[in-house]
Amino acid sequence: MPNTSKSILDTPIEYLKGVGPIKADLLKKELGIFTCMDLLQSYPFRHIDKTKFHKINEINTADDFVQIKGILNRIQIHGTQRKRRLTAQLKDNTGRMELVWFKGVNWLEKNLEAGMEYIAYGKINYFNGRYNIPHPELSLPNDKITTSSHLAPVYHSTEKLNSKGLDSKGRRKIIFLLLQKLKEVPLAEHLPDYILQKLKLMDRHEALVNVHFPKNEIDLKQAIRRVKFDEAFYFQLRMSQLKADRLQNIKGLVFDKVGAYFNTFYKECIPFELTGAQKRVIKEIRADLGSGVHMNRLLQGDVGSGKTMVGLLSMLLALDNGYQACMIAPTEILAQQHFVSLKKDLSQLNIEVAYLAGSVKGKKRKVLLERLASGEIQILIGTHAVLEPPVVFKNLGLAITDEQHRFGVAQRSKLWQKNKPIPPHILVMTATPIPRTLAMTAYGDLDVSKIDELPPGRKPITTMHKKEENRLYVFGFMKKLITEGRQVYIVYPLIEESATLDLNNLMQGYESLERDFPKPEYQISIVHGRMKTEDKDYEMQRFIRNETQIMIATTVIEVGVNVPNASLMIIENTERFGLSQLHQLRGRVGRGSDKSYCILMSKNNISKDSYKRIQTMVNTNDGFEIAEADLRLRGPGNIDGTMQSGVNMFKLTDIIRDSEMIKVCREMAIRIFEKDPNLTMDVHKKMRAHLEQNFHLVKGWSRIS
Ligand code: ADP
Ligand code: MG
Repeated sequence: MPNTSKSILDTPIEYLKGVGPIKADLLKKELGIFTCMDLLQSYPFRHIDKTKFHKINEINTADDFVQIKGILNRIQIHGTQRKRRLTAQLKDNTGRMELVWFKGVNWLEKNLEAGMEYIAYGKINYFNGRYNIPHPELSLPNDKITTSSHLAPVYHSTEKLNSKGLDSKGRRKIIFLLLQKLKEVPLAEHLPDYILQKLKLMDRHEALVNVHFPKNEIDLKQAIRRVKFDEAFYFQLRMSQLKADRLQNIKGLVFDKVGAYFNTFYKECIPFELTGAQKRVIKEIRADLGSGVHMNRLLQGDVGSGKTMVGLLSMLLALDNGYQACMIAPTEILAQQHFVSLKKDLSQLNIEVAYLAGSVKGKKRKVLLERLASGEIQILIGTHAVLEPPVVFKNLGLAITDEQHRFGVAQRSKLWQKNKPIPPHILVMTATPIPRTLAMTAYGDLDVSKIDELPPGRKPITTMHKKEENRLYVFGFMKKLITEGRQVYIVYPLIEESATLDLNNLMQGYESLERDFPKPEYQISIVHGRMKTEDKDYEMQRFIRNETQIMIATTVIEVGVNVPNASLMIIENTERFGLSQLHQLRGRVGRGSDKSYCILMSKNNISKDSYKRIQTMVNTNDGFEIAEADLRLRGPGNIDGTMQSGVNMFKLTDIIRDSEMIKVCREMAIRIFEKDPNLTMDVHKKMRAHLEQNFHLVKGWSRIS
């Protein structure tokens, strides 16, 4: 075996003593552990205090982890074949408790000895009115891996790992062996002294030992802190590096003119005064576009904050400089709406605007593609269809994606290819507020602009939670508003797997609505995913023209639709929507001058989490608060299928609980790059080497927003 710490850590896992090819295979498949370094970085998620034992008669909460010392008895096998299970009874001086195994029954039967004292560790389960421990980890009281510590690490495991002796106990052994090996050749420090001292961080080698086998609780805490710091800090360094690289090395098209399109439109065609926030953001974008640097900017603004206008003005800048521009939306309805309203907005200017979606076919499509390639079309509005390879621009200068959370990372990267050799500037507009900590991590390399102000005259939306039993009240409320001339949305959830069921729900709702809101006094529009585009469109347009008072729909109207006269949003089966979706939906009302309402309908009995979501909606209209609540309730991995790329990169760091530290790391990384943009100063050399060895993110990663 090689004898530097680096060469030990680079060693493939199968060469570590006690592992071998079969175990190595499992470690690779189940945990992604390929090298000794990976093993070292597979951190325990908790530690057991080996000196503390729970008393059986004090156990009263399921899901707690407990450690019990007692005599094992009554080892019994139940059932046959696949349903076989083994139970045993553990008895201490306060009571008895059942242990149960469904796997590895044969081995256990051979090896467990009745009448012996064992220590059982595991998670309490409540079954048939009693507590038991399924699949506990068992050890004999004198089983020892470590001599000095009373804190034993516990690792995440799987059935497969357990069956091959790679449960927590097995892994503890191999990691212990690895650490023994590293004793002679301690891991080198890579952080500069000034950082270690300033933040009072534990030395790297000591931290990696103590994070597994701590001497005491204090060391454990310090070790975890150091490991988390490394994760967050190097990630932020990498982000700063990517950004610096983009700013230095990727050329951007130069839009140095502000010409007739922009000026005429700005002065003569906007029917309202821009908000301060809109003006500031346009300035930021103008500065980017004129600088010769490539723009990769995220524009965040709550629903209704007026992002479209900012997008439009940016497109006019592109046109003023002789380039084409495009805007892409996630659904046809939204793209259509953008197209219609943009054409109207631009009617006084002589600009060629075209629409492209999957539904544009045949001759029409062919002509459109020709006009696009020749540069005759100046602005293209469309759906994902715009990203397809046959769609070729003459000179695309700016690409905007609206409501970004519906776009996959790969799709967005295609935009880069739409102009050569210099990629178009990219503006990503999102109404899904991104929690601050997430923005700092997942989007750390993007420039971010925020519209943090709503147009004047918007009234906060009053949100209420109503149950099925309040249906009559809700209908009465609808009638009152309709009598006053307002319009109403009713939205049903749409979840792919049970689309038929959802459709039935919607149709039933429609039928009962028709009974209570009869024609000709009331007109109802219906829109759902199974309808043809033309039909959907027809119904949407009737509602937009105020020919129907009620729009009943699946979530197709979720994003972007704008009908200022609609002042009531009723959401059915609210418990089936996520928070950010609810916020999006609610944003469809409150756009006109009338007081607006949102009613969240639910069953009478709902889960605690659903209740919390609904309460959050009732209590606040603030998109950021809602996003943070969402992140807390669901965990970062699930934020609307976005940004997986950026979220789960940390092993120990939790982007909510450790947000303060992430902030410190970010500020520190930015300051370091300001002082030493290529990390060539002596104090930073080891840090740079470590960064390059360990954080080689996918090439071109920075280029996809
Ligand atoms: P979002 O940010 O959700 O995309 P929109 O761009 O659709 O919001 O704007 C919502 C509505 O507000 C539109 O009807 C738009 O014309 C209007 N609007 C945008 N900016 C202003 C402003 N500064 N003053 C008044 N109304 C505005
Ligand atoms: Mg919008």
